[in-house]
Amino acid sequence: MASEAQDGNGSDPTPNATDMNPGDDAPPGTPGTGEDVCLQCSGKGKIQDGGECPNCGGTGKVIKGVAGG
Ligand SMILES: [Zn+2]
Repeated sequence: MASEAQDGNGSDPTPNATDMNPGDDAPPGTPGTGEDVCLQCSGKGKIQDGGECPNCGGTGKVIKGVAGG
């Protein structure tokens, strides 16, 4: 019995995401956004634990919308 249940089109949570981090509002290069200092690690890229900041991915920067509101 051959079962052709290979559609290979499941629900991918991260399609073609670039290097977005949890603290990013949008992917880098998005119009109306800009780099900002990560408040979680104060731009150090590391947390008190000494590990990589999960919010900015260790870059110390996050992408924030700069559009006035
Ligand atoms: Zn950070």
